[in-house]
Amino acid sequence: MSPVAIHDLAKMSASARTELLERTEADLADTIKKVEPIIAAVRERGDIALIDLAARFDGVVLDRESLRISSDQIANAEKELDPEIVNAIRLSVQQVTRFHLAQMPEMLWLSEQTEGALIGDRWTSIDSVACYVPRGKGFFPSSAIMTAVPAKVAGVGRVVIVTPPGPDGSADAATRFIASLIGVDEIYLCGGAQAVAAVAFGTETVPKCAKMVGPGSPWVSAARQLLSNRIDPGSPAGPSELLVYADNSVPAALAALELTVESEHGPDSSAFVVTADRALAEAIAAAVPELWSTMGAYRADFSRTVLGGQNGGIVLAPSIEAAFDFINDYAAEHLAVLSTSAFELLPRIRNAGEILIGPHSAISIANFVLGPSHVLPTGGRANTASPLSVFDFMKRSSIAYLSQAAYHRLAPAARIFAGYEGFAAHANSVSEVRDRILSNSSPS
Ligand code: NAD
Repeated sequence: MSPVAIHDLAKMSASARTELLERTEADLADTIKKVEPIIAAVRERGDIALIDLAARFDGVVLDRESLRISSDQIANAEKELDPEIVNAIRLSVQQVTRFHLAQMPEMLWLSEQTEGALIGDRWTSIDSVACYVPRGKGFFPSSAIMTAVPAKVAGVGRVVIVTPPGPDGSADAATRFIASLIGVDEIYLCGGAQAVAAVAFGTETVPKCAKMVGPGSPWVSAARQLLSNRIDPGSPAGPSELLVYADNSVPAALAALELTVESEHGPDSSAFVVTADRALAEAIAAAVPELWSTMGAYRADFSRTVLGGQNGGIVLAPSIEAAFDFINDYAAEHLAVLSTSAFELLPRIRNAGEILIGPHSAISIANFVLGPSHVLPTGGRANTASPLSVFDFMKRSSIAYLSQAAYHRLAPAARIFAGYEGFAAHANSVSEVRDRILSNSSPS
């Protein structure tokens, strides 16, 4: 039997198909119970709790001073890195900055939709944001770029990075270098639920922030859920997930290669190829084990677990229509469309955080250096949510100006509405009372 699971939709009951759409992050109930005392500890004891929890969960001894990375450690980080990663980081920051600058909306628009009434929107950035950069099953400096760059482009006044301490009691050099490149001078060493609590309540060292963004483990997601009345928890970005649609216009080996990409994140990732071609499905399954042998035992084990189980492998659909029904029901974080007619297939896709079209649009390039943020909706939320963008760091105010003539044209209808809803003050404010006040007042 192939170590890569083949899920045959034609032989599956409706409930088994529904189960295949489930994600590992679906049930946070147990984790929520476990993070409650962590949150209470940070709320009550601030920095001291962060120091205790770093020792307990990260195995690192910190003191109050080392909770914040020093400006020297940020300024000198480049010297600790090989020139080739320095150049890759510079390219990524440049691309991600360009993409998000292009995404910025008109900061103010006003339109005269009825004579004398100017109506529009004004965008302003939020005051402060904490970007969570995970560091558990690996480290993710690219997440610092994918969160802090759009925040900076959107004009957020205070952008801070929170990240678990590494074994040396610091943040990894790439994260520190990225901070120096993009002008973030605050990095705090706390991870998991304690990091969320720290920025939700503020501690002696860590500032309280208005919002938190970024991917994270279930500890992070559970704390964000619990503290959503204290901090805007942003869109949850949980365990990575990928669908690859493939047809026989592309080599099976290419689909196998892309399939392994998101399956190496952790045993809780999800990764499927969806195809309507049985021979292709079998060829892809056969091509994967050779790739595992090139991945190193740690990552290959994650990939084996994912691709051999309920959260990964190949979904064999009875038709192309059924394949795209599954893809839309799944609403994946990443969707790669491996077909030479990928653009023609695009209208069939409604739900996906990211849609990568054609055999050269590699997931890896999108994850690191393309431009759009790799922080994408997971857990099926791509059916209503969008990738992290400058809009996550801004809010809109409606703006209106009425001339006297426009006021007189609209006031009667407002008065009638106010009367119908039983609001006397509303009705008064658009009655002759207002006319009298305005006709007696001299312009100041
Ligand atoms: P993490 O930083 O989110 O979690 C590690 C922290 O969890 C530790 O520092 C510790 O504080 C806490 N923790 C560990 N064990 C604990 C325990 N028993 N009790 C309480 N707290 C505990 O890093 P991670 O674990 O690597 O998770 C990162 C996740 O983000 C992965 O699932 C990865 O797939 C995902 N990811 C997603 C995207 C995306 O865009 N969606 C991008 C990168 C990473």
